[in-house]
Amino acid sequence: MVNESADYTSLTRVLMPGQLQAPPPLAVYVHLPWCVRKCPYCDFNSHAQRGEIPEQRYLAALTRDLELSLPLVWGREVRSIFIGGGTPSLFTGAGIDQLLCLLRTLLRVSPVAEITLEANPGTFEMARFKAFRDAGVNRLSLGIQSFNSRHLTALGRIHDAAEARAAASAALELFETVNLDLMYALPEQTLAEARQDLETAISLGPAHLSAYHLTLEPNTPFAAAPPPLPDDDAAADMQLMAEATLAGAGYRHYETSAFALPGQECVHNLNYWTFGDYLGLGAGAHGKLSQHDRIERQARSKHPQAYMDAVLGESETSWNETRRLTRSDRVFEFMMNALRLTQGFDPRLFEARTGLPLRVAETALQAAEARGLLLRTPDNIRPSEQGRHFLNELLQMFLPEDAA
Ligand code: SF4
Repeated sequence: MVNESADYTSLTRVLMPGQLQAPPPLAVYVHLPWCVRKCPYCDFNSHAQRGEIPEQRYLAALTRDLELSLPLVWGREVRSIFIGGGTPSLFTGAGIDQLLCLLRTLLRVSPVAEITLEANPGTFEMARFKAFRDAGVNRLSLGIQSFNSRHLTALGRIHDAAEARAAASAALELFETVNLDLMYALPEQTLAEARQDLETAISLGPAHLSAYHLTLEPNTPFAAAPPPLPDDDAAADMQLMAEATLAGAGYRHYETSAFALPGQECVHNLNYWTFGDYLGLGAGAHGKLSQHDRIERQARSKHPQAYMDAVLGESETSWNETRRLTRSDRVFEFMMNALRLTQGFDPRLFEARTGLPLRVAETALQAAEARGLLLRTPDNIRPSEQGRHFLNELLQMFLPEDAA
């Protein structure tokens, strides 16, 4: 017999262990892999351009890639798009317009989505930057690295100090939001020079600044023949100076390397750091997509030619690797992202994003707390100051036992 007075409106689906109540927010990352030339410290999937970039063929491959990916994200709203590289500003304004039209046509892109494009000062042309803005890019991320020509030369960059300033000023005139990327602990850099770079950046007034420690990545020319870098103590002094200088100028340090004026945090990167979903399109692009009963990562061929050949060929998927996250992967990957956030996370976010109860991480949380690397209240888990400065040590505590 049916109980007609029963109220079914508050019923929620009964979840099996590891299932998600609702999909996380969705972002889209598009990789444009070419650069004018390869910088000697760079380990990104970037390729020196030889002759003309095959822009139209690559856009055709991105179109096919997106079409093949649609079943995984169907109907979900996209809150941010990030066009990264490589040097996406090598693409024409018309090419970026074509790409954004494609994304808007096939996906439900929020009308207020944050749309970021990475650009390098060495490719700056006013008309091209204007065309990016007119295509719908509302946030420009500019790879300044330094305002000192000597350091730019040591980094193998194609721009000098004057070009860095000119590109930053034009970007600030044209775009709603601008991020300037800076690096510190550069070859033979002094503390005063690192401070000068920051003060120059602050004087231009960007909404967002990123300050990265130059590191020697394996399989790069810098790793093979290291330049004379500041020692660890000098680099740590630069980091502390950067944090104090930016705080004094009103920038909130919200992630390991990211600083923003109030309300200007990067929506796209916050989605990564809160273990949101993202669809990756393009050569070497990775995605992380959740279905109600699983979370998977997909990776595409890294080399642009191989990617285009695969996607435009007979293949029925655009990714050539897929990996389903185990319970311990979910714990580690969530912590690896969320503990980068200076203000940490609400414990309920862990359960919503991983589908697991927080008690599965209890042993590691207690151990990190006991070592002074983590602070906990019922509503918040965050790295202590020591935890922020020894982040790798903190994250290692969440590695699955067989990987530690
Ligand atoms: S411009 Fe950026 S992506 Fe390109 S090689 Fe240099 S560091 Fe790498």
